[in-house]
Amino acid sequence: MRRAIATVSMAGTLADKLEAAAAAGFEGIELFESDLTYYAGTPEEVRARVGELGLEIVALQPFRDAEGLPPAERAKMLDRLERKLDLMERLGTRLLLVCSQTRPDARGEPDRLVEDLRLLAERAHRRGLSIGYEALAWGRFVNDWRQAWELVRRADHPALGLILDTFHLLAKGSPVAPLRAVPAEKIVLVQTADAPAIAMDPLFWSRHYRCFPGQGELDVESVLRELLATGWDGWLSHEIFSDDFRSTSARQAATDGMRSFLFLEERLGRPSLPPPAAPRSVAFVEFVEAAEKAEAFRATLRALGLPRTHRHRSKRVELFRAGEVAIVLNLEEEGFPHAFQLLHGLSVAAIALETEGAERARARAEALRATPFVSPVGAGELVIPAVRGVAGSLLFFLDPARPGATFHEIDFLPDPDPAPAPDLGLLGFDHLAQVVPPTELSSWILFYRALLGLEPARRADLVDPRGPIVSRALEAPDGRLRIVLNSSPSQTSAAGRFLARTAGAGAQHLAIACRDLLAAARALPAELRLPIPDNYYADLEARFELEPERLEAMRTLGVLYDRDAEGEFLHLYTRSMNGLFFELVERRNGYARYGEVNAPVRLAAQAELDRSPAEELTLLRGR
Ligand code: MG
Ligand code: MG
Repeated sequence: MRRAIATVSMAGTLADKLEAAAAAGFEGIELFESDLTYYAGTPEEVRARVGELGLEIVALQPFRDAEGLPPAERAKMLDRLERKLDLMERLGTRLLLVCSQTRPDARGEPDRLVEDLRLLAERAHRRGLSIGYEALAWGRFVNDWRQAWELVRRADHPALGLILDTFHLLAKGSPVAPLRAVPAEKIVLVQTADAPAIAMDPLFWSRHYRCFPGQGELDVESVLRELLATGWDGWLSHEIFSDDFRSTSARQAATDGMRSFLFLEERLGRPSLPPPAAPRSVAFVEFVEAAEKAEAFRATLRALGLPRTHRHRSKRVELFRAGEVAIVLNLEEEGFPHAFQLLHGLSVAAIALETEGAERARARAEALRATPFVSPVGAGELVIPAVRGVAGSLLFFLDPARPGATFHEIDFLPDPDPAPAPDLGLLGFDHLAQVVPPTELSSWILFYRALLGLEPARRADLVDPRGPIVSRALEAPDGRLRIVLNSSPSQTSAAGRFLARTAGAGAQHLAIACRDLLAAARALPAELRLPIPDNYYADLEARFELEPERLEAMRTLGVLYDRDAEGEFLHLYTRSMNGLFFELVERRNGYARYGEVNAPVRLAAQAELDRSPAEELTLLRGR
């Protein structure tokens, strides 16, 4: 298989797209004709640039409205074809993508369609070029790959082959097993695309919601599996029409596209990546804060049952630990943590994962085109492999902790002046929620899937009084790592306010599991808890049979509750600091979700306490 990307999958000018495709490691591009039409350079210049970048133009596309036309229209179509064949000669590409007819005045008698395809192929053949025929899911007469193949088979011309597009196959639910009967050499190009599983008009779905395989919910893998079973070994080309991709950079899309292929190839049993190093746990979460403001955050940690136990050997870095929870507070005034703090204020600058092999995890991340990061290390300090994660924060990889040689035993010394804290029965990190811009959501889903083997849950749509929030949880199969990605098109929703306030800091809330939530809640100062309206508890009483004393305790402590077939979930939130907040959770009897049903009450309570920067500006202007 060779990897290509259609220029339509990337934003920017044609020059940007070519550079981005080459930089990400693609060998070929499919040239979407509009990209050339709107480009100032000549086709020969494009050909030269493509060559310089080590790329190949796999196909020119699309040639529409070709087959089944009335006679007068057919003659015009053939003239148009000759011009495109001229263009292909100038570009140095050999394959023209012809997509199935959608015009209302066309006729669909199969004999006629076969004859037209044979004629197109003959015209291309005279010049040493060829035609690939693709069934669009909304084609008038040909809208299933099997129909397209039947016409190609009957036309029986050496310059005519079949183009498959995983989106069209999967959107139609067309069976893929019959692919085994298609000779591999007749499949001249395979276009790859995924999409969220939503019931929608196929044309609109295709034009706006496609995404790279691994980012959506279609079973692209099964199509490719059948294809590989035919012995096929040609060009795979991502063809993604997406509003989100049009809003990001060509570099981002090309990087994601390559990551998608690497991920897909591994799933198909053809890996070119270092094997996954499964995450075992979150070893620590590193916060940054300005030194002069640090006491307020220390006080919050203490109130949450996290005593300061250690200080770094050489840096202004403190460690707070309880149970398996470890929080690092970095107050350094130079280097990456300081830059992160200057940009975002109090925020999470790094997440450290204990993995099955730190160096392997880093090598895999880099092979997956993650951005490497090397931090300065003092003598005798642990060298921690790292890459950039969400919002430019760091993702550290730690080897499995050996007794006496954990990260804090190497880099830290017991605090000579420890700050004690009440025992809240903290167990460990439960989940971490990050906010990403809507245009980056698919990108980070694939990042976590490919890098850490996390699997995305179905999307949850959360109702915030000031705007919708989309939430996607990603979980390790063994449940040892859970990351929730939240995203909102609204600048005034909790997610939008957070991005605006922190200049896009990434991590917004950290959930900590505790042994007994009601006991922990009692130990937590009331002013730290997010207040929850009494109406919530009246509704809770109506929905669940809860003991009156237990319900009353929840009400007075601001504890939220959910129950499903598996078990119970109790949780509470702190008030936020610079948009960041903590959640304490107790999972009982295998409850595996996040209390999403309670998100609206949390979001409404936060909206009560918090205005968005845009709203503050409006108030300042007296409007
Ligand atoms: Mg296509
Ligand atoms: Mg949560």
